[in-house]
Amino acid sequence: MATKKNSRVVITGGAGFIGSHLCERLLTAGCRVTCVDNLITGSMENIRSLLKNKNFQLKMQDVSRFIQVEEPVDCVLHFASPASPVDYLDFPIQTLKVGSLGTHNALGLAKTKGAKFLLASTSEVYGDPLTHPQHEDYWGNVNPIGPRGVYDEAKRFAEAMTLAYHRVHGVDTKIVRIFNTYGPRMRRRDGRAIPNFIAQALHNLPITVYGDGSQTRSFCYADDLVEGILRLLDSDLNVPVNIGNPKEMTLLELANLIIELTGSKSTIVFNPLPVDDPKQRRPDISRARKYLDWEPAVGLRDGLRKTIEWFR
Ligand code: UDP
Repeated sequence: MATKKNSRVVITGGAGFIGSHLCERLLTAGCRVTCVDNLITGSMENIRSLLKNKNFQLKMQDVSRFIQVEEPVDCVLHFASPASPVDYLDFPIQTLKVGSLGTHNALGLAKTKGAKFLLASTSEVYGDPLTHPQHEDYWGNVNPIGPRGVYDEAKRFAEAMTLAYHRVHGVDTKIVRIFNTYGPRMRRRDGRAIPNFIAQALHNLPITVYGDGSQTRSFCYADDLVEGILRLLDSDLNVPVNIGNPKEMTLLELANLIIELTGSKSTIVFNPLPVDDPKQRRPDISRARKYLDWEPAVGLRDGLRKTIEWFR
């Protein structure tokens, strides 16, 4: 197993929402973790409790520049990137660089060290999908020059680069396509639907639904995602794997559920839909079920209750 006791795992973006959950899980499993992060969207708060662990090391660095690690490395997990639509609109060039140059550097590190490599890819590679639900064999419907293109195309390039390192250099690479994920440690001003709705509901402020709220998403709790990622890392699969929760709902349903669970007096307001906002999204997780024996275990109500508690 790649994640056995004492193996050294480098996590780029380890101070981010998902990265920090991974750091924590791997430290609990007895791994030594090197977190590389420039804190552009990650935060010290996410990793403060890990800093006193002797198996945890923080390198404050932009991974779009050469990544130097002295020690032997068993796995490189490349999670560095702005990931919320608001963030990649604020940092379009950094998003393109970390997906392209950053992926190249992280792959180069894995190759030099003879380490496994795992790329955090995204359901955004499917763009505004024309097939539903989305299976890994679907090639996607992406606008390369729209505002979201900086993230979508960077991740598509990252996937191509990852498979090239696998084919040409024989690096043992994995690609996880992460669908909408939520949980503790999302930033209040992250801009994504769940943190926005919870923060608004807890302050009895209007809930900002974009468009008419009929667009759909499928929301996966962070612990479920981390479990799927670790199973993928320990598998023989080199093809991309969707990890997400197949329970689909409209954004209006989500807004009403959050109002109910918080006991909020918030009303709902309808704001303009962002450009290229996908109309529907649901992962086909048959590959993860078959090869990783994985499926989500946390229901939306339970996951939202825990997340609301954390936001309070
Ligand atoms: N959304 C919304 N209100 C908000 C934030 C987001 O209605 O305050 C919508 C957004 O337009 C999209 C969906 O929620 O249709 C999910 O958006 P998010 O930013 O969470 O992630 P995405 O799936 O678009 O990457």
